[in-house]
This record gives sequence, structure tokens and C-alpha cells, in this order.
Amino acid sequence: MDLFEYQARDLFAAHGVPVLPGLLATTPEEARDAAEKIGGLVVVKAQVKTGGRGKAGGVKLARTPDEAYEAAKAILGLDIKGHIVEKIMVAAGAEIAEEYYFSILLDRANRSYLAMCSVEGGMEIEQLAVEKPEALARIEVDPVMGIDLDKAKEIARAAKFSDELVEKVAPVLVKLYEVYSEEDATLVEVNPLVSTKDGDIIALDGKVTLDDNAEFRHEDHKALAEAAGGLDPLELKAKEFDLNYVKLDGSVGIIGNGAGLVMSTLDVVAGAGEKHGGQKPANFLDIGGGASAEVMAAGLDVILGDEQVKSVFVNVFGGITACDAVASGIVGALEKLGDAATKPIVVRLDGNNVEEGRKILADANHPLVTVVPTMDEAADKAAELAAAAK
Ligand code: GDP
Ligand code: MN
Repeated sequence: MDLFEYQARDLFAAHGVPVLPGLLATTPEEARDAAEKIGGLVVVKAQVKTGGRGKAGGVKLARTPDEAYEAAKAILGLDIKGHIVEKIMVAAGAEIAEEYYFSILLDRANRSYLAMCSVEGGMEIEQLAVEKPEALARIEVDPVMGIDLDKAKEIARAAKFSDELVEKVAPVLVKLYEVYSEEDATLVEVNPLVSTKDGDIIALDGKVTLDDNAEFRHEDHKALAEAAGGLDPLELKAKEFDLNYVKLDGSVGIIGNGAGLVMSTLDVVAGAGEKHGGQKPANFLDIGGGASAEVMAAGLDVILGDEQVKSVFVNVFGGITACDAVASGIVGALEKLGDAATKPIVVRLDGNNVEEGRKILADANHPLVTVVPTMDEAADKAAELAAAAK
């Protein structure tokens, strides 16, 4: 789970990482009140789960509460890389002297942690890594040893901080590692970590990804997930039914059984879609082993609730759950959904009891359903129907 900046900031504060006070707002009026409470220079920041907010106009300094009002008005509703700004944080403004970069993340390939640090922060790290790779120190961190003060100094030195700054920055890196380790994060990134004109080191931005597999030992992370509202409404619905669903941007809804089959279905649909005006998969949805009418209805319900979906491709390979059970599931699901089912559905069934399955669908003769024998033809048909619906 990715956190919003304000949530990351709260975690930082809880672990003693120096941050500036901030308040959340959802209207320009609240932003004005917040600026008045905080007093002096404030910064109004879009709370969206994507980077590059500054460049997109989502971060504005305000010297007065009225300026904060205007800044909030400009930022709320802004579309930043497809994320609409609904919340803003009004934070005390820092007088920045220098901007640095620090991150720690899970390095799966090396079965280790990786710290990255640079005395040249502020700009996007991808850009820094490409344009000035020598300016970005990459230091392996032993998960058992973690980052103690000595290790933090080693990282800061490698990042070319001056001796004086090494002493100041290292204790902050230790605290940031504490956030990473104790909160079970897979990423903690601070860009920029700044020194102020007064000589303080402050985490001015924060990006934290928590490991969902560790949720069971963090009761308090549930509240973060709820407040984050990070899940799209369709994803929440899918979660209720224990469906493995990820929303994508295309027009062809996908249902399959087994993650491998669904992933290859995404590829085949994207390929077929090129011949039909660039249709793409609208989602990943694995209904898993059991394809009962309930599960199928829940899956179809989720997918049909996506406005971007113009056609649906159900791609099932009958195994332990045989094709006739899946076909009955589809028929039952369409009965359950009734008028809620409005989009053409292309079904490809193969495997165990395929003949019986196809017969059940043929007998049901549902006006929305087309049965196509192979995966390639079915993908083509689904893409064609999606293109025709536009
Ligand atoms: P991002 O663009 O999404 O990474 O958002 P950041 O929180 O990193 O803000 C972008 C930039 O705005 C920073 O690199 C700073 O230069 C600037 N900025 C953010 N907060 C402050 C602040 O309190 N004071 C000043 N002077 N600049 C700030
Ligand atoms: Mn940033």
C-alpha cells in the first residue's frame, strides 16, 4: 500500500524524523484556516499518490492565508498524471538552503535492502540516475544490521555530504531507517530532504510503501488504508469478494481463472486490440479456481461497473472446476445481474468438460454472449466489439 504524503509525514513524526507541522484540507476555506493556524509562510501541496506534483503545479508557496486560499483553489481538482486532487496539505513553509535525496528500499534481486542518497536532491531521481549517476550513492544495507549511526555516516559520506553535514544528516537517516524497518515498509523515500537557512535538516516530502503482507502485525495500518481511500471503488468491491482485481485503462474487461492465464490474456488482447483502433485490456481479474455463479457474478459485476469497459472477455480453462460448472456460473451470473448486464461478453472455454460447457451456453442463448473457440479469435472478437461500441 502506498501512502499519501501527509500519512508518510505522520509516520515520520511518530519516529522522530524532523518534519514541519501540516494540516489536511479539502476546501480553499479550510486551507485558509489552516494557514492562519500555522502562521507565516506555508506551502500548499496536492495529496495524490504520484510524484512530480511540483512540476504539475500541485505545490505552491503562500505568504498569507488569502494566498493559501487561492493556492488551494488552483490545486484542488487539478489532474496530476490522471490523479484528481481531492485533498491538500497546508504545511509550514521551509526556508530551503539545500535539497538532498534519500531512499531505502527492498532490493529483491539481491535479497537485501538498498539505500540511495545524494547531496543533489530536488530533481527527479530517475533523471539524476541517468544524467549524473556518479552523484547518486547506492549502498547495500544488510537487513539484519540495518542502518545504525556508523552505517548512516557511511551512506552520507558516499553521497558526498561535507563532514559537517554528515554529522547532521546521519541521525536523520537512522530515524528514517527506523520507519522503514519498524513499519514494515518496502520503500521510504525523501525527496527533498533539506537543510534550512537555520541549519536544520528536515524531511520536506515523503513517499512510503507499506508491505501488505505485514498488515497483520500493524493494527494501526488499517486506519491508514481506510483514510487513504487508495483503493478505487471497483477494487474495494472486488476485495469484498476476495477477487484478485487490478484496474487498468483499456476498454476490454477481462475475466480468467489463474493468474498466468489472465496475464497472457492481457497480452493477447493488447495484441489483437492494435488491429481495432488500439483497444486495450481494462483490468486484470483472476477468479481463481472456483468459478461458481456467485464468483462469476461478482466478477462480472465489478467489470461491468467500470465505465471504460465496452466489452468483456471471459477466458476460462476448465481444470478442477470443469467447463460445465463455469458455463453454469456464467448463465447464473447473467440471470443474477439481469438488466445490470449491458455489454457484449465473449466467452472462450476450453479444458475439462468443454463440450458440456459450450452446450450450456448455446442452450441459454443469451443475447449478450458470443462463444468463440480459441483464445486468439476470442480476443479479436472482444476487441472488435469494444471498438464498435465507441
Ligand atoms: P513532488 O514534486 O511531488 O516531489 O513534491 P515535493 O514535496 O517534493 O515539492 C516539490 C518542490 O517544491 C520541492 O523540491 C521544493 O523545491 C518545493 N517545496 C516544497 N515544500 C517547500 C517549502 O516548504 N518551502 C520551499 N521554499 N519550497 C518547498
Ligand atoms: Mn518530492
